Formats: sequence, structure tokens, C-alpha cells
Amino acid sequence: MEETLKILVVDADEVDRMAIRCALTQAGVEVELSEVSDVNNAFSALSTTPYHCVLLDYRLPDQDGLTLIQRLRSSEIKVPLVVLTDQGDEQITLQLLKAGATDYLFKSRISPEILAHILRSAIRIYRAEMQADLATQQFRESHEKLILKNQELERQQQQIQMQNFKLLEASRLKSLFLATMSHELRTPMNAIIGFSQILLRPKFGQLTQQQADMVQRILNNGKHLLMLLNEVLDFSKLEAGRLDLKGEIFDVSKVINLAVDEMRSLADAKNLSLLVRNDLRNASVFNDPVRIKQILINLLSNAIKFTEHGEIWVEVKELPGNRLAIIVRDTGIGIPPRDFKHIFEAFRQVDQTITRKYPGTGLGLAIIDSLVRMMGGKIFIESKLEVGSMFKIELPRQITLSTLADDAPASQLDDDGFFYHTKNPHHSSSEARKTSIGSPTFKL
Ligand code: ADP
Repeated sequence: MEETLKILVVDADEVDRMAIRCALTQAGVEVELSEVSDVNNAFSALSTTPYHCVLLDYRLPDQDGLTLIQRLRSSEIKVPLVVLTDQGDEQITLQLLKAGATDYLFKSRISPEILAHILRSAIRIYRAEMQADLATQQFRESHEKLILKNQELERQQQQIQMQNFKLLEASRLKSLFLATMSHELRTPMNAIIGFSQILLRPKFGQLTQQQADMVQRILNNGKHLLMLLNEVLDFSKLEAGRLDLKGEIFDVSKVINLAVDEMRSLADAKNLSLLVRNDLRNASVFNDPVRIKQILINLLSNAIKFTEHGEIWVEVKELPGNRLAIIVRDTGIGIPPRDFKHIFEAFRQVDQTITRKYPGTGLGLAIIDSLVRMMGGKIFIESKLEVGSMFKIELPRQITLSTLADDAPASQLDDDGFFYHTKNPHHSSSEARKTSIGSPTFKL
């Protein structure tokens, strides 16, 4: 042992104390020895001075060794304690060990080697115990910290749930507001459109050219507003899962031609060629003709809006697996690839500035996306800035009215490397399915 050990000997017998002193000296142990002869003095020495070890005689004049051990324990004074007993005191020894003594030594067996060995191992055991105590203490503390952290996390989770609930409620109210407002505004708008149309009929009296022009502008703007209102209404219904498809068998070529005819004047006004290529051998499909036309009108409207010169092509063809593709291509401004997935989000436009050149609600593609998904179809985009864009819609020839594809990923590339957009469709509850869709939209 390198360090000097501070040892307290508690023994009333002067001869025994001398024997211990001699044994320690002979063992070559570096010690600083203190000696007391009763429990009270031992207790006050241990209360004021830290010792490496106590050698305690069980039989003391005032109180026995057990009393000292108990007083030390209740005062939380920790020190390795070797009890010196007489042979035949085994019962007492056991009691002392249970009470907290580290080790024991029969007085008759005291020798330099044994005493040195007992001292060393008592100190080692004591230190190991202290380390174990410390580890237990640290473990307890970190366990308590974890409990606190857990409680804090639970509290935060509850707050997030609460905020989530509030957000859902706010979103529900927003959709309700949009639905109510657009619905309410449609009635006067229909009156404005209807009466303008009547005014323009010659049998209701001749208007001057200037008056006719003004009424025509009221009519055009009314139709445009109605289109915007219908978009908002459709969107809010889709969000609430209250828009349903009305399936029927019809000639898809006819619907495509109708949509193209409706948009031709807008293309002509911008000097854009509007070309149709129809490769269908069988044009009969089971789908919702109103919604198919709406999709095409929206795509054509965008193609015309975002193209300043060149051509717009509409192509319809059959695909393997009883599927059809409707493709709208333009030679317009194009879309940066980084915006491919955003433009399908509601109210998202490539140019989000107030001073943007192209008008619109930013709902068209979000509505198309939801409708195509409800039809069990997919949308693909290909676009190059300043060159043009291509939107390809792939649809099954026959839709399943409950087609839902909740688990599809948000966006992917298809086998040809096209960006392929998918999003969870808006659900239609069985009760909501009774709600019918609005009238077809017009997009100027
Ligand atoms: P809106 O046309 O009302 O702005 P959409 O949802 O129809 O909303 O389109 C979202 C955005 O996608 C448009 O604002 C535009 O930035 C971009 N976009 C859509 N179609 C085209 C296209 N054919 N060419 C260029 N950009 C397009």
C-alpha cells in the first residue's frame, strides 16, 4: 500500500491496542494510527476526521460495537469497519456484519500478515461498495431525469395533438366557408349570365353596338367568374370528400371534340393552332363525361394561357391493359422541374408573385389530380423551359367508382423517366357520395 492509511483503533484494552500497533509496524504498512477506548470518543473522532478504516473491538466499556455501527449508519458516516472479536462470538459477529461491518478478525489470530491483508481487503471492499453506491445513485438520477423528459414529451405530444385538432378544425371551417361562399355566389352569377344572354337576343329589343359590347363583356366576365367559383366549389368538395363521379358509358372522342371546340376560339384569339390526333379504335368508355371534359378543358386552358406562339396538340390513344392516354402538349413557357410536384398542390403556381403575368386560382391541377386519382388514373408531366409542356393522363377504359389508392407515393418517375405525379385522393364517404357535382366549368 503506497498511501499512508489513517486507521482508528477502538479498543479499551491497552495491551490489545499495542498488539495491533506492533503487527501493523511489522507488516510494513504505512499508517497514521489514532486510538480511542470507547464508543462516544470513537463516534466523535469519526464525525470529525475521515479514516480509511476502523478496527473495532466488540466489547467496549460504555456501549458495545454494534451500537457504534448503528450510530454511524444513522449519521450516514461511511467507513470500512473491521470488528475484532473473540473466538466463540460467531453469533455476534454475524449480527455485526448484518448491521454493516465490512469484515471481522478473531483477536487470537492477529498477526502482521493477516492484519495487513484484512485491512487491504476491507478498504477494497469498501471502495467497491462506494463505487456501486455511486453508480446506483447516478442510475437513479438519470432514471429520474428520463421520467421527467418522458413527462415533458407526453405534454408536448398532447399539445401537438391539440394543435393538430385545432388545425383540422380550422381547415374544415375554411373548406366549409369556401363551399358556402362559392355556392351562394353562383346563384346571382347565374342570374347575371342568364340576363346578359337574354339582353343579347334580338327579340328582346335592339341594343346599340356599344350597349351590345358592354353586355357581351358582362357575359364574358360573368362566365369567367362562374368558372372560378366552380373551381373553388369543386376543390372544397374534393377536400371534404364530397365530390363523386357519375359513371356512364359514352364516346370519349365526342367529349374530347366538344372540349376542343369550346377552347378553339381562345386558341384562335392568340393565333395558336389547336390540333387533335385521335388514334382510338374503340372510343367507348365507362367514366364521368362531365369530369373528363373538365380535365381536358383545364389542361387546354393552361396550355393556351401559358403559350404565346406555336401549337397545342391533343392526342388520344389506346394503351395496353385496356387503358387510354389523353395527352395535351404545348409550345409554351414550360415548367421548371423543381416545380413539377408543387403545381399539383392547391393554390400553388410557378409564379406566386402578385404581379404575375398569368391569372388563375392555382386550383386547376389540384382538381385534375384528385379527379384522375378518383378515376384510378395517373398524370405524367414532361416540360422544358421555353420549349413547352406535356401533360399525359392515363385512365382505365372502365373506372371503378370506388377507386381509391391511399397508399400510393407522392411522386415518382415512370419507366420512361417521366415525372409521374400521384397523391392520395380525397375520400368519398358513402354518405357523401349522394352529393352531386356542380355544373361543368368554363375556363377562359
Ligand atoms: P392556374 O392555372 O389557375 O394558375 P393550375 O393549378 O391549373 O392553376 O396550374 C398551376 C400552375 O402550374 C400554373 O400557375 C403554372 O405555373 C403551371 N402550369 C400549369 N400548366 C402549365 C403549362 N401548360 N405551361 C406552363 N405552366 C403551367
